[in-house]
Amino acid sequence: RKAVIAQDLQRLNPMQRQAAMTTEGPLLLLAGAGSGKTTVLIQRVYNLLTYGRGSDSDEVPVWATEEDLQFLESFPARPTEEDVRRARHLCAVDVPRPWEIIAITFTNKAAGELKDRLAARLGPDANDIWASTFHSACVRILRRDIDRLGFDKDFTIYDTDDSKRVIKDVLKEKHLDEKTYPPRSVLAAISHSKDQYESIEDFAKRAEAANDWRMKDYARIYAAYEKRLRTANALDFDDIIFHTVTLLQQEPEVLDYYQRKFRYVLVDEYQDTNHLQYLLTSLLAGGYQNLCVVGDDDQSIYRFRGANIENILNFEEQYPKARTIRLEQNYRSTQNILDAANAVIRNNQGRKGKTLWTDNGGGDVVTIKTTFNESDEANYVAGDILMGVNRGRSFRDTAVLYRMNAQSNQLEYAMKRNGIPYKVVGGMKFFDRAEVKDMLAYLCVLNNPLDDLRLRRVINNPPRGIGATTLDKVGALAESQGASLYEIIRNADLFPELKSAASKLLKFADLIDGLRREGTELALPEFYDAVCDQTGYVRALEEKNDMESRGRIENVQELKSNILGFLEQDPEDATLSGFLNEIALYTDLDSVEGSDDCVTLMTIHSAKGLEFPVVYVVGMEEGIFPGSSAQYDQEELEEERRLCYVAMTRAKEKLILTNCRQRMLYGRTSSNRASRFLDEIPEENMRWESKPEPRFGGMEHDSTFGGDRYEEGWGGASARTGGSWSSGGVHSYRAPAHAAQRPLQSLQKNAAPAATLLQLQQGDMVEHTAFGKGMVLSVRPMGGDALVEVAFDNVGKKKLMLKSAGAHMR
Ligand code: ATP
Ligand code: MG
Repeated sequence: RKAVIAQDLQRLNPMQRQAAMTTEGPLLLLAGAGSGKTTVLIQRVYNLLTYGRGSDSDEVPVWATEEDLQFLESFPARPTEEDVRRARHLCAVDVPRPWEIIAITFTNKAAGELKDRLAARLGPDANDIWASTFHSACVRILRRDIDRLGFDKDFTIYDTDDSKRVIKDVLKEKHLDEKTYPPRSVLAAISHSKDQYESIEDFAKRAEAANDWRMKDYARIYAAYEKRLRTANALDFDDIIFHTVTLLQQEPEVLDYYQRKFRYVLVDEYQDTNHLQYLLTSLLAGGYQNLCVVGDDDQSIYRFRGANIENILNFEEQYPKARTIRLEQNYRSTQNILDAANAVIRNNQGRKGKTLWTDNGGGDVVTIKTTFNESDEANYVAGDILMGVNRGRSFRDTAVLYRMNAQSNQLEYAMKRNGIPYKVVGGMKFFDRAEVKDMLAYLCVLNNPLDDLRLRRVINNPPRGIGATTLDKVGALAESQGASLYEIIRNADLFPELKSAASKLLKFADLIDGLRREGTELALPEFYDAVCDQTGYVRALEEKNDMESRGRIENVQELKSNILGFLEQDPEDATLSGFLNEIALYTDLDSVEGSDDCVTLMTIHSAKGLEFPVVYVVGMEEGIFPGSSAQYDQEELEEERRLCYVAMTRAKEKLILTNCRQRMLYGRTSSNRASRFLDEIPEENMRWESKPEPRFGGMEHDSTFGGDRYEEGWGGASARTGGSWSSGGVHSYRAPAHAAQRPLQSLQKNAAPAATLLQLQQGDMVEHTAFGKGMVLSVRPMGGDALVEVAFDNVGKKKLMLKSAGAHMR
């Protein structure tokens, strides 16, 4: 039987196979990145559902006949499908039902993949496996029994924004200042306490004991916060697990039910569990003790959320009968990538050392690229992705990883301008939100009342008693008169068909005209305030006065910071239409919704467990990655280094790390040194393109010449001679004569000189690095740039921004 099962799992290496076949008792699978931990976890579930209990024993079903045994004895090395089917049947002993297995993964995506992969082999039965995240498994448990804790079964779940708003309400009620008690910090304290499974009372006691006035106030806020959640029959994220643990601890019947139900418990990414999740796991597995945890201490990256590597390191102590299996072969990455990642993580002190090897071959060395600023960095990444596609890669092969969510802005911008399809995982696309679209639609109508599309969006939003029927009539009239909706509405009293609605329509037209008049006098930010106010849009949300509406109001207000940012960047073109043009870059460029073949942008945290042929990690700078709080905190630094290890080990074939000399983030510009992690990569595993040299006199100024182009020559002869631009090799770039007199700002804006040389007009044939041949359909000037629409032979129509995309076309 053992041999038959082993053969069915022959894709696995011997250690992996052992892990997949050890079904009974506690098992720790501790191994480095890409060594097949998740693969084994899935195989283990497959094995359980196919062969059942104890696949390392030679037990067979009682009904097996002599002939059956004979067949197994002489099981052929190359079995036919029929052989396999018969063997599976014969070797199946005490097979669990799918719902007796719970596999906890880190993301819903991973859970979905697990189900899909099993469904492919086991059929629809696989759907009954409890494959989910900690949170969704707990929600399921709570939906069944939470009434025992005094909640209603149809409780609501508050996300972080909701929770923050509750805290704000509590602060208001208690006349406490948000500055002294930042809602974020209060929430973090509450969350931390819940992660430790500490009761409110104990939190208060801890505050008393420490005699810390702020903590004592936190305790009061916490109590009021909990009360509000109770009254609203709501749970925050931490409560979901917290209450589940309470339920299991307090209600023996419930505990018994789940301990009997779950014969097998599996947890992936165990190094990132916090105390609460640890308690939950132990409770669920407490019946059969068939607990398999999988993890890598080098990839523990959620300390800030209370994750505790000790959980994995102490597993053997907690379960003295536990078996530990280690895997050392990496199947994901090339040797160069692996060596680089290993070398970086080796600098951490507190770790169970291990070395990974691979027989995937050396592959390309790691590329390190230094650019001038963050927009050059984004453009470099975009350009390099296009080159890759030119050489036959797909967009979906690529992920761009960053340390902080805010870094995605520049990248998104570069992707859009270059027509590169992309998706942002786990981040909010600001301009996709309904309320943001609504306000932009108002601005569009105010800028140009003939914009029928936008007018339709806002005319009855907030409700003004102008229904669909009226709008249909207006539409029909507009059609027959060859006029715009606005023109019909402006003259509504002239059309008998509109008689009943005329006063409402005219009132709307007055609103628009009135605001347009104000727009000629007010500065843009004040004008925006007037729009929010007079349209009644914000008031309508205020009147709803619920959690969601308050969030929407915040987003409406947030749009104002885009306006302010726009003004700062381009004070000369500070008009409404200028702003809308700028926004059009975001909203009018190709939308990639529904496209599968796209680049993935995400934070390193959300990339955990995933893999891509090509990975870019941007922002490799001191102060960014490692972040500034790691500078004087060894533990923090080691966590950042683990994060770096996670990022690097996502790559299968190509790894590109980028940094820039000057970065604007959160509205501030700073000059950062290259990340120490770059220095930790051995010379032989990397190629540093344009490594920055120590600066010489005058370099500061010179460096403003044309962004990336200049960067190419950074360490080269031309740069070091300080001013002689024409020398040097292929990379050198001669700054235009007039450039020297221009101030820094304007120079950066016109960063890509090659692009501006490209003169395009309708009907021109172009050839693009990645999209191939195409014909220019239109060229629309926009700010100092132009929006070009091209019909490509292979990929269809695309809208591109000339300044960026021009560099990749001829
Ligand atoms: P991480 O630590 O990043 O979560 P992991 O240890 O879970 O990584 P997997 O994602 O399971 O690793 O596997 C990495 C890659 O190696 C996958 O593409 C997987 O298909 C492949 N792989 C795993 N085991 C084998 C094997 N025995 N033979 C060939 N390929 C394998
Ligand atoms: Mg994994």
